[in-house]
Amino acid sequence: MKKHNFSAGPSILPQEVFEKASQAVLNFNNSGLSILEISHRSKDFIAVMEEAQALALELLGLTGKGYQALFLQGGASLEFLRIPYNLMKENGKAAYLDTGTWASGAIKQAKAFGETVVVASSKDDNYNFIPKGYEIPTDIDYFHCTSNNTIFGTQMKEFPKTDAPLVCDMSSDIFSKDIDYSQFSIIYAGAQKNMGPAGTTLVVIKEEILGKTGRNIPAMLDYSQHIAKESMYNTPPVFAVYTSMLTLQWLKNLGGVEAIEKMNETKANLLYKEIDRNPLFKGVAKAEDRSLMNVTFTLNNEEHQPIFDELWKAAGISGLNGHRSVGGYRASIYNAMPLESVQVLVDAMKELENKI
Ligand code: PMP
Repeated sequence: MKKHNFSAGPSILPQEVFEKASQAVLNFNNSGLSILEISHRSKDFIAVMEEAQALALELLGLTGKGYQALFLQGGASLEFLRIPYNLMKENGKAAYLDTGTWASGAIKQAKAFGETVVVASSKDDNYNFIPKGYEIPTDIDYFHCTSNNTIFGTQMKEFPKTDAPLVCDMSSDIFSKDIDYSQFSIIYAGAQKNMGPAGTTLVVIKEEILGKTGRNIPAMLDYSQHIAKESMYNTPPVFAVYTSMLTLQWLKNLGGVEAIEKMNETKANLLYKEIDRNPLFKGVAKAEDRSLMNVTFTLNNEEHQPIFDELWKAAGISGLNGHRSVGGYRASIYNAMPLESVQVLVDAMKELENKI
């Protein structure tokens, strides 16, 4: 039986994507070849790369606005380094917002590189809220934030205004809602939540911001070189890009980010409502900063844990345990998660209440 997969990433993808990707492993485009054995320089794969790039820009509303989409490797973690390399001038400065483990990972890489100001942090409260009302220095090369904090279950609902290029790690909420993506100069996201399997990172770049640091950038770290080579500077992760393209096609057919945002809100509301109603549970993140993607919650009484764990496991739920730094539970309800699966979780929570 297919499980209800609440994993934080790699995570659930649409069932039709699993089916089409499986078919392509056996026989890609009726070519008599597997997607796993074709050349990345073949006509068929170049068409896949081009469609994946075009769909990414289209779904973000960035077509024809001076942006390039790249499918790179090294995870979002390598972008933590590529960003300062490409944007921070010699003796320059960057500003970061510290909203979680991944944000602080990005800060660490930037600090090793040059002057890095942390404008605000919620670390002292174990990152259970998004800092607000901070000031961004004006003499910076860029400002970096993390739109959704996968581990803690918080999400930025607004982004600061700054004249500096705005850079955002959207690994865990890209393509999940309809916002003005043109406010960002760089958006990056590991594929393994809302887009595809692990193995590729989508990087969307406003081209005009590149080439201003005066630095000699090693080729694999240089966004301009990846753009010049049409995202094929080296062999791209063919299967991850293909599967990402299938997911982006699925999202487009569904009505794009506007349509999925409504569905994501419905799913998250259903679950948060139960967390707030059910006296056995409480939410981890501050209500105003709650994420639509990763719902973190705990039991009020730890003694109930073995009974609840048995209930949700028996209901066919997988991947519900919270991250070790938060504890409790985390329900990751990405784009591909059906409402019915969220209902199964809510039913298990109600069942616990009936049993106690
Ligand atoms: N940023 C965020 C918001 C994440 O959730 C993650 C991974 N879960 C990362 C960065 C790191 O991504 P990767 O493992 O692809 O390097």
